[in-house]
Amino acid sequence: MKKLLFFSTLCILLTEHLQAQKKTSSSSYEKTVNDLISKMTLAEKVHILHGDHLYSFPGIERLGIPAFFPSDGPCSVRPELSDDGQYVNTNNTKDCATALPTLSAVAATWDTEICYLFGSTLSSEVRARGKDMTLGPGVNIMRTPLCGRTFEYMGEDPFLTSKLCVPLIKGIQSNDVGACVKHFAMNNQELNRFEVNAKVDERTMREIYLPSFEAAVKQGDTWSLMGAYNKVNGDWCCENPYLLKTILREEWGFDGLVISDWGAIHDYKKAALAGCDLESDRGSNYIKLEKAIINKELPESVVDEKVRRLLTYFCKIKKIGPDAASREKGSINTNEHQLAAKKIAAESIVLLKNSDNVLPLDKTSLKKILVIGRNADLKLCVGIATSGRCDLALAGGSGEAKPLYEITALQGLKNALGTNTEIQFINAKEYSSEKALCSASKNFCNSEFIQKVKSADAVLLFTGNSHVEEQEGSDRLTLNLPTGQDEMVNALAGINPKTVVINQSGAPVAMPWIAKTNTVVQYWFSGQEGGNALADVLFGTVNPSGKLPCTFPQKLEDVACHANKSYVDNEENYSEGVLVGYRWFDSKNIQPLFPFGHGLSYTQFEYGKPTMKKEMKSNDILVVKIPVTNTGNREGAEVVQLYIHETNPVLLRPEQELKGFSKVSLKPGETKIVEIQLSARDFSYWSVEEKGWKASEGKFEIRVGSSSRDIRAKEEVKFVSVKKK
Ligand code: BGC
Repeated sequence: MKKLLFFSTLCILLTEHLQAQKKTSSSSYEKTVNDLISKMTLAEKVHILHGDHLYSFPGIERLGIPAFFPSDGPCSVRPELSDDGQYVNTNNTKDCATALPTLSAVAATWDTEICYLFGSTLSSEVRARGKDMTLGPGVNIMRTPLCGRTFEYMGEDPFLTSKLCVPLIKGIQSNDVGACVKHFAMNNQELNRFEVNAKVDERTMREIYLPSFEAAVKQGDTWSLMGAYNKVNGDWCCENPYLLKTILREEWGFDGLVISDWGAIHDYKKAALAGCDLESDRGSNYIKLEKAIINKELPESVVDEKVRRLLTYFCKIKKIGPDAASREKGSINTNEHQLAAKKIAAESIVLLKNSDNVLPLDKTSLKKILVIGRNADLKLCVGIATSGRCDLALAGGSGEAKPLYEITALQGLKNALGTNTEIQFINAKEYSSEKALCSASKNFCNSEFIQKVKSADAVLLFTGNSHVEEQEGSDRLTLNLPTGQDEMVNALAGINPKTVVINQSGAPVAMPWIAKTNTVVQYWFSGQEGGNALADVLFGTVNPSGKLPCTFPQKLEDVACHANKSYVDNEENYSEGVLVGYRWFDSKNIQPLFPFGHGLSYTQFEYGKPTMKKEMKSNDILVVKIPVTNTGNREGAEVVQLYIHETNPVLLRPEQELKGFSKVSLKPGETKIVEIQLSARDFSYWSVEEKGWKASEGKFEIRVGSSSRDIRAKEEVKFVSVKKK
């Protein structure tokens, strides 16, 4: 697997080189594009701008313009759907593709190389399935943990999401497939997602909700972007001139393709003028463009511009144009892709609590283990009908995957333990619910059962959500676990000291029983190899190194928009402003269940004193060097995090903000110097008056640590503005 990572780094460098080359060759695309446009009738131009099936856009045969096939996304190639939204090929493996972990898991790796690996694995499969675009990644910020699509996004922090989405996009685009970064913008809840109006002030937009899109455009060089369903400050996202024109095109210089979310266009003229290029799905709006142009209600240049962007996109993915002969063919369901899925899943697992060092479990000493709870054997993907469909009809919405196989946690344990260990599995489904399993009735938790729990060499209690709770189209109603799982843990956690609670979810959950257990693992929606990856972590083959990409609150009311009662279903006032996620918890001094950036290891890391200059000039780069030593006796990886705190801010600033991180691998006893660079933008807020990024002169604290609440060193730096010449 080391080879895989080395390969990923090499690929990142190569992609950068190729992208630079591509820029210089973009004039060769112009010729192809101009030639085609000059031959097209108005009707033909309009024809290719709106979908003809759920996931296709028509081509023009007489000109050799091919049809275009986007595909969900974002963690696999979605199984084929008929136009009425039903899966086809349910009995066979024709459209199976590797199911990678979902994006909240990927974010928990805090690892840019893993993100590249994820992107390139995915796009190789996208190509092999004959698709032209993957509808992802989703880079919306977690404003509420209830959002049904939290598992499709990368957490609550704009800096982390920005840094991780860039290599992920590059990975996708390394195989002649475009990324379609979604959902632009402020699509932060599923509750009433087709109607809700996000009322967001300028500073909050710029500091919290837009940076990930900005990074995707400016650094990731994404070739396309998807306009969201919701409204932002009164205008639908796909018709929003401020978002699509002023910010995206004019400020960020985006020259790629903008696609509407499925059915997100209301006023076709407004959308066309704002810069939404394609109407997805079987679009019935953009067809009207032809008449509007004939009637001189719109100039033909509006359509030409869109056709130009679409054809240029085709050149970039080598579907047409000078490079078409060398288009990547991709591969699917390969052993290498399965290994990548496992690697990503293993790196994402977060060790939340291990106070008695129960983990890792020693495989050789386990004669009898007890595995309890629905999620231990829950399939989260859409299965193949003949080999048993997924337990649940729903598998999350457009993020659904149909892998050849899916290793559940239970299967992973069996694979790892073989026949030497007896595994007794109690799936609460056999009873009406987990609640029935261990409710006050004590039917099941009788003395015989308690004895069984006591005498097991280890007890693995599985909690978690399914895609009934976490899915596209609706939000969760509560942070609490479903099906009486809290009661189950409460009843069983304190009996056997070798009890491990493993929570599987794509989003934070409440753990009211946390005091009863000393060992807790966060296991995400981890794709088809998840169970094997989990077993590797539980038995110590892999030393966990994941960190939370979002705060786990103790209770819902501790989250900013819930505390402010500003999570509603219509006029959504983002009154918490920039205090989202840990920015709120830290500024308001609220104790989370587990803080942002938290994650333990089977080894320990010691931080030395950071070295850096004491003054940072606005035209300079501040280099912070942090010595980190592995003081334990196992090899492990640590994510070194750097937060900035302004000492005397002139306006409200969050208590601290993540502005740098680096994942470093260390052998026992080894020390490495981690280097993190900061620029003026990292010290800045968005100045509404000056319409730009601004840092106040004065003192800042550089905080370095293992999580947002485990700061190991603080240094002061003075920020000095230098006038631009
Ligand atoms: C979702 C998008 C998805 C699209 C196509 C929409 O409902 O919001 O994320 O890509 O459907 O499936």
